[in-house]
Amino acid sequence: TLSVASILSESATRHPDRIALHFMGGTTTYRELWDQTRAYAGALRARGIGRGDRVGMLIPNVPDFARVYFAALSLGAIVVPVHLLFKADEIAFVLRDSGADLLVAAAPLLTEAAPAAAQAGVPLLTVLLPADAGVDLPRLEAEASIAAPIARHEPVGPLDAATILYTSGTTGTPKGAVGSHLSIVEQIHCTLIDAFDLRADDIVFGGLPLFHTFGQTAVMNIAFRVGASVILLPRFDADEALALMTRLDATVFTAVPTMYVGMLEAARRSADRPPLRYAVSGGAALPVAVLEAFCEAFGAQVHEGYGLTETAPTVSSNPLHEPIRPGTVGRALWGVDVAIADPETEDRVELVEDGLGEIVVRGHNLLKGYLGRPDASSAAVVDGWFRTGDLGTYVDGILTIVDRKKDMIVRSGYNVYPTEVEAVLARHPGIAVAAVFGVADDMRGQEVHAAVVPHEDVELDADEVVAFVRDRIAAYKYPRVVHIVPTLPLGSSGKVLKRSLVEQFTPVS
Ligand code: ATP
Repeated sequence: TLSVASILSESATRHPDRIALHFMGGTTTYRELWDQTRAYAGALRARGIGRGDRVGMLIPNVPDFARVYFAALSLGAIVVPVHLLFKADEIAFVLRDSGADLLVAAAPLLTEAAPAAAQAGVPLLTVLLPADAGVDLPRLEAEASIAAPIARHEPVGPLDAATILYTSGTTGTPKGAVGSHLSIVEQIHCTLIDAFDLRADDIVFGGLPLFHTFGQTAVMNIAFRVGASVILLPRFDADEALALMTRLDATVFTAVPTMYVGMLEAARRSADRPPLRYAVSGGAALPVAVLEAFCEAFGAQVHEGYGLTETAPTVSSNPLHEPIRPGTVGRALWGVDVAIADPETEDRVELVEDGLGEIVVRGHNLLKGYLGRPDASSAAVVDGWFRTGDLGTYVDGILTIVDRKKDMIVRSGYNVYPTEVEAVLARHPGIAVAAVFGVADDMRGQEVHAAVVPHEDVELDADEVVAFVRDRIAAYKYPRVVHIVPTLPLGSSGKVLKRSLVEQFTPVS
């Protein structure tokens, strides 16, 4: 039956001896992974977990992520992967909000997970906790060794919930976007045909966090569907990733732009090059200069796509079998409708024929709604269209993202889109990565600031950077203030946290 769990069980039947996971020098075949998953499912079932129950997970990119994820789904339960950077109060919020029946947490995260589970009154099970750790907490592995493994996955309805993914909450409290088995399975198949063309002999970079929709579906789920291998990295370090991908002959690199920048820096220090067939970028805007530098350094074309947690995730991509259009996010996936709406009209979706506006999306991949938030759900999905909060254009079937509505800077009444300014900064030979943001300003409403990270061993001069951009862009857009910083604050999904930059560089009055 149609179930997200079937992608693993089917691959265990079709490709039992292929490698599903590379991790810390070891490998797990599809047969082994499914056997371990059935054993974990047996233990969860013995604890009363069944169809419709919610299983919270706080697990980094290790094989146990996949085992627990598919074990819960095999029982018809709903998985609730929690953001790895969340602190106890935030985890407890997610557990309560999702109505979690159990939390499975990895040993290294117990400092936050244990108080959160206690606070929310949710039973806690651990993975990766050595038996001799001297900690008295139940271990999933031990329970799985005595429980009877399940034989096959439980049938589910296509519209049954499979995942509850919390949007990391750039604004307000996090909301749980509910994804159905149908939305995820349909997304897997459309992504494979239109965006990825993954094969059983592919070896895929798995450094994107699996708790996030991008890593979960656009890396793990599609790889498992075709019997490809995933190189799991619990923590992204560009030098290690480059060496490992080269040693394991990685063929596909799927990442967020900051990881592209990291790989380029690593490639300046090392001659290692994995035999990449292609690369895919998403999650944030990829400056064209970074795309070009990556193609040159790695000899692999980069296909940029666009997606959101609420759309499971891919909306559009530069298709593999067409020349890429740098600076755009390509064509809508099959089955996904894209249109542009008037961003000012809130109560209904007023489509506009051409020009810039808010991107709206329709299709089977849409979330079922935000859990327990009818208000937020009806504000987000209007007349069947999901409002993405992103501004862009859609011309001749090609989608271009201009920026997030909320990141737009209004300086003296002029709109400045940070992405455009960041693309210019990315062309500066001394700059590795840059972020542009608005800081409150008494005179102009907002002032344009940039935080820039220089390449290793490069001395940057802030005035020279200002002049570089001033020569290449309209006068109201260039950053008046340039901060030279050693690193940018990143969320664990690898995106730049602009909110932190705004806080850091807003003068205290
Ligand atoms: P939060 O939940 O904290 O608001 P988020 O908005 O980053 O986090 P995600 O679902 O992780 O939530 O990401 C979706 C957003 O990422 C999109 O709305 C868009 O702003 C951005 N995005 C994704 N792909 C691209 C791209 N190729 N170019 C520009 N922006 C992109």
